[in-house]
Amino acid sequence: MSDAPPLAPLNSESRPDQIFPTLNSEQIARISAHGTKRQIEPGEVVYEPGTEEVPFVVVIAGQLQMIRPSGTGDTAITMLGPGQFSGEANMLAGHRPMVRVLATQATEVLQLTRAQLLAIVQTDAELSEILMRAFILRRAELIARGFGDAVLVGSLHSSGAVRIKEFLTRNGHPYAYVDLDRDPGVQELLDGFGVAVEDVPVVICRADIVLRNPTNQQIAECLGLNDAIDQTRVRDVIVVGAGPAGLAAAVYGASEGLDVLVLDSHAPGGQAGSSSRIENYLGFPTGISGQELASRAYVQAQKFGAEIMIAKTAMQLTCGGQRYAVRIDNGPSVPARTVIVATGAEYRQPKLANLAQFEGAGAYHGATFVESQLCSREEVIVVGGGNAAGQAAVFLARTASRVHMFIRSEGLAATMSRYLIRRIEESPAIVLHSHVDLVALEGDAHLERVQWRNNITGVVEARDIRHVFFMIGAAPNTRWLEGCVALDSKGFVKTGTDLSQADLVAAHWPLTRAPFVLETSLPGVFAVGDVRSSSMKRVASAVGEGASAVALVHQVLRQ
Ligand SMILES: Cc1cc2nc3c(=O)[nH]c(=O)nc-3n(C[C@H](O)[C@H](O)[C@H](O)COP(=O)(O)OP(=O)(O)OC[C@H]3O[C@@H](n4cnc5c(N)ncnc54)[C@H](O)[C@@H]3O)c2cc1C
Repeated sequence: MSDAPPLAPLNSESRPDQIFPTLNSEQIARISAHGTKRQIEPGEVVYEPGTEEVPFVVVIAGQLQMIRPSGTGDTAITMLGPGQFSGEANMLAGHRPMVRVLATQATEVLQLTRAQLLAIVQTDAELSEILMRAFILRRAELIARGFGDAVLVGSLHSSGAVRIKEFLTRNGHPYAYVDLDRDPGVQELLDGFGVAVEDVPVVICRADIVLRNPTNQQIAECLGLNDAIDQTRVRDVIVVGAGPAGLAAAVYGASEGLDVLVLDSHAPGGQAGSSSRIENYLGFPTGISGQELASRAYVQAQKFGAEIMIAKTAMQLTCGGQRYAVRIDNGPSVPARTVIVATGAEYRQPKLANLAQFEGAGAYHGATFVESQLCSREEVIVVGGGNAAGQAAVFLARTASRVHMFIRSEGLAATMSRYLIRRIEESPAIVLHSHVDLVALEGDAHLERVQWRNNITGVVEARDIRHVFFMIGAAPNTRWLEGCVALDSKGFVKTGTDLSQADLVAAHWPLTRAPFVLETSLPGVFAVGDVRSSSMKRVASAVGEGASAVALVHQVLRQ
């Protein structure tokens, strides 16, 4: 039914002492300074899946049981004895729990609110390490076993299912997947919820709400991903965009005591999140996937108290008055003393008439594990000659039968790093096609056939290839800033010394000092990472700029 491994108690794994550690009496004493003691009767439920404002509990005496309830019966996950504690990554984010915790006997616990737990995690290095490791490992187990509060019913040939899989995966949200093409019992499940086959992909949220081909926003709302966030408070800084630059700003800002709100229209990680392997980021000699880097940074930002809104888009910066505000979707404007613009860039779309028809169903803009599974042992095309295209080709060559790289120029030397060119040359599965343009996509529900033209000979070739990866550069996400900050001719945000005197006059720059190095033509509004004019367009530089902007935010807040 699901593609998750068979169910087994979580603590049957080889790391039970790290997943469910037992705190010693000194550690419990330090926690008790923050919480209150509470007696729980046998059979009493501490919390249910979906409970808002769930407490963090440490068992003092007695025993708690962690259960995963489901329509087909409850699954016992583990017992928590004296010194053991509840919770997983949801505790940090303020998301709803996915399990039920109840007492099997008369039990005494120490109970803390999320704010009290965060205070410990931020100030007690030893406890922080134990709690963070347990929370992250528990989340990883939930994901690996498909133990979530969401069930996705879909087909891998449907672009909607691929989009939702990617959204849940990139948000680190556990879910079970039911494959329409492989599972004969699926109709029964759909019938149970009154869903017609044409409504798929379907997300069944918290076992009772059925969303038919939902948007990412609808899924985030149903799972309560943004429930704990106060949108009325004036923030020290709003960071717009949770790619490497925005996440770095969130980690540094929150760790230095600023009240930070981050929002992202999609999921944490930005463009880097779609990279299969980043090999040139400092400290990772064997490389790290963008998804892994982003999920670590996401948890790190939450640990320091940054609040992160998912599937929420900044529609407009309000810049006319005394204080800035960011209008989120069609909802409220959230006020802020300063703003960090980290909205990066978006893939350029090639001019192919019916491309939209095949988005996620044969046409892709990122090559992650999800996509590589779709085209295993098939021929694929990668369009583009930059580093992103090179990485995608090398990554896909591991699973695809052949990778055709399409470039317009003669060779890769001018556009790609030498180490990637060498890998491509050494890979027998990769074939480079120079002076080539893709000219047609054909198919019905899924891409089935493509045509390409050699721009020197004019010859058009057609071939049955079902997967094309477009990696042809990006355009800045700055529409929401229109009329507020000076942009360069390509729409990237100008900062610091890139701002001419004429820019400052046009923007009515009100201060006697010149703009700081990452500051835009609006005092207290900074731009970092790929969205910034003349930035380096690399993960390391985005992270460095995000961190540096925080130092400048402090200076502005002091003024
Ligand atoms: C496939 C691929 C592989 C790459 N490999 C490498 C590599 O190996 N090494 C390297 O150094 N660099 C690599 N890069 C480049 C690197 O990923 C980027 O330079 C980096 O991600 C830029 O970070 P950023 O935070 O500035 O922007 P982005 O990563 O673009 O993130 C911007 C974020 O802002 C969000 N957003 C946009 N508009 C809005 C809005 N209005 N409201 C709310 N949110 C918004 C987006 O959803 C996104 O999450 C790669 C890029 C790609 C595409």
